[in-house]
Amino acid sequence: MSNMQLETLRRIVQEINASTSLHESLDIMVNQVAEAMHVDVCSIYLLDERNQRYLLMASKGLKPEAVGHVSLQTGEGLVGLVGQREEIVNLDNAPKHERFMYLPETGEEIYNSFLGVPVMYRRKVMGVLVVQNKESQDFSEAAESFLVTLCAQLSGVIAHAHAVGNIDVCRKPSNLPAYKTFQGVSGSGGIAIGRAVILYPPADLSAVPDREADDISEELTLLDGALTAVREEIQSLDDKMQDALMAEERALFSVFLRMLDENALPAEIKELIREGHWAQGAVRIVIENHVAQFAQMEDEYLRERVSDLKDLGRRILAKLQEADESHRELTDESILIGEEISTAALVELPVDKIAAIVTTEGAMNSHMVIVARALGIPTVVGVTELPINTLDDVEMIVDAHQGRVFINPPRRLRTRYKEIQKEEEQIAKDLRQYETKDAITPDGIAVRLFVNTGLMIDVVRGVQRGAKGVGLYRSEIPFMLRDRFPGEEEQRSIYRQQLSHFANKPVVMRTLDIGADKDLPYFSIEEENSALGWRGIRFTLDHPEIFSSQIRAMLKASIGLNNLHILLPMVTSVSEVEEALYLLERDWIAVQEEEQVKITKPKIGIMVEVPSVLHQIDEFSEFVDFFSVGSNDLTQYLLAVDRNNPRVANVYSHLHPAVLRALTRLVADCHRNEKPVSICGEMAGDPLSAVLLMAMGFNTLSMSSSNILRVRKTICHVPLTDAQDLLEHVLKLDNPLMVKSWLEHYFRKHGLADMVKGASRLVT
Ligand code: PEP
Ligand code: MG
Repeated sequence: MSNMQLETLRRIVQEINASTSLHESLDIMVNQVAEAMHVDVCSIYLLDERNQRYLLMASKGLKPEAVGHVSLQTGEGLVGLVGQREEIVNLDNAPKHERFMYLPETGEEIYNSFLGVPVMYRRKVMGVLVVQNKESQDFSEAAESFLVTLCAQLSGVIAHAHAVGNIDVCRKPSNLPAYKTFQGVSGSGGIAIGRAVILYPPADLSAVPDREADDISEELTLLDGALTAVREEIQSLDDKMQDALMAEERALFSVFLRMLDENALPAEIKELIREGHWAQGAVRIVIENHVAQFAQMEDEYLRERVSDLKDLGRRILAKLQEADESHRELTDESILIGEEISTAALVELPVDKIAAIVTTEGAMNSHMVIVARALGIPTVVGVTELPINTLDDVEMIVDAHQGRVFINPPRRLRTRYKEIQKEEEQIAKDLRQYETKDAITPDGIAVRLFVNTGLMIDVVRGVQRGAKGVGLYRSEIPFMLRDRFPGEEEQRSIYRQQLSHFANKPVVMRTLDIGADKDLPYFSIEEENSALGWRGIRFTLDHPEIFSSQIRAMLKASIGLNNLHILLPMVTSVSEVEEALYLLERDWIAVQEEEQVKITKPKIGIMVEVPSVLHQIDEFSEFVDFFSVGSNDLTQYLLAVDRNNPRVANVYSHLHPAVLRALTRLVADCHRNEKPVSICGEMAGDPLSAVLLMAMGFNTLSMSSSNILRVRKTICHVPLTDAQDLLEHVLKLDNPLMVKSWLEHYFRKHGLADMVKGASRLVT
């Protein structure tokens, strides 16, 4: 693509991103494309799924009256052909084509050349973009690639707009469709019916939700206060920079002050407040409108002022937020929604009021989700299209089994989901009988079920649900909940609680595993490719002081209990283990000397998360006492699929044959070296995969407390011989979906349908 085309493309995309409604976006698109490509017609047809028709949504060149009225069935005309084939159709003599359909309502003269490009989003056709010329000519390859690139860029915008309101994207809740469904990825199963509460980051203009003003004059007063504060702030910045900057470089400050003149931005903001918007929302709308205008300007200097304008908006917003003391209290059955919700933000809230969590970012094994799962909160992540800002206080149903979110659900659906909730409560009640049972297969094989912990609630639930030990204590969780690295004594007392609740049972404590998606609020690691970056043991070996304070705290905490095991995360090479062992030995000797007490030497294990470890079990076995599979990361690295990227969530599966085969081999390698091997990734807590893991011969399955009872019930019902047959069969399959359905089929046939989460109660 030429530079000029790229520049045009960039401009069009920028304008579209700045527009505020789907109609506006599409109009911009057809006009700009027609102009840039010098074509007679440019039109966009969008798929109306309910009626299975392509509706003409915008056109430059066809009769304006046809827009919004003319439509074609999905199998009709050349537009239908593009949609069916899901590929470009480029014709120099369209009327001669067998699928050509003349539509008199469009005022269509005979346009000979036709180029149709599908607008695809997540493998689905959303619509078709068409350009036409009277002249008979093939469109060039450059024209094709220009439109393909444009459609790819725009498909997200269209998908989003389409999702919000089918036709019109408007931020006012009153314009929301009565009922709408969104799809994401299930993070933690369960069902919730409640009202949305938006968790938005402070001073983020684009995240400010629409909300009606409770009291207009109060909002006006708040705004006046914020404006005065910002004016003062800018004035003092100007004063401060007198000596440092030239007058023209400080011109920006006077531009800001002029914008803040009562007749400028404030007048517009106040007008919106008087119409009923709350002050923060009014600021956002006014700034966005101006940003859109600036972005369209030819003058590069003015276009670049967009960021200044946004900066000014953020300043006003920050002052408004400082003054806003009406932090919304959570009411019962609150459904938290946000782009991304951090673990820390979650645990700060009254957890018993959170009915569900829905985020547009994130994926099923992110840290927040792991915590939500421990707390038993239904969670759906990666709902990319969710129009967060428009959903304040809107009624929602969250079906976290299927990763579905329904906004403004009809009464019939609500009733059905209420019934399902009741059924689930019943299942949970029935499962309670498994709290005191042993996990023994019908053919008499005992399986050790451990719990994964991090919060105290995991420990309490783990004990209550009969866990035989802790298979993974995620020590980074208490680190995440603080505003600085906890000191040695602070750590000691936290670890002591964990160890003492499981006195006489093994507790596997993992050393700090931060990096990638596990960020500490006070120690952020910014990296391009963080999953492959500075994380786990790579970080702690570079910070031996942090590593040692943790080891020392763990050793001290274990005095008299002797149940400590230490697990090293994200190990890649034997040398890392050697280094860690050196530090461990040194700390073990030092702590005993200091405390004047003998401390049982903890058993040391490594996590199998990086594929390199799979190939060096013999070598690692010389140094460590046990292995524990972190299947969340191992799956991520074996399949080269980001565990936190909702776009590729469909590629991420621990039932992938490569994962299953790697694990089968791993267990054999560990046992040949006479080393126990456990698994503590989410795979262990999924009844379907747990059966396979048991057949592979894992010594221990360690899981979130919310999964223990399901897995125990499953084990009590599936003979080891059946599990072995299942494993033998699925190891021959080449597709994770086939593996899943094979297992589900077995579960259904053997009265275990309830253990297949959500599968038995599909609501469509
Ligand atoms: C894993 O990777 O499977 C694991 C248990 O560790 P985490 O999920 O904390 O990365
Ligand atoms: Mg991991």
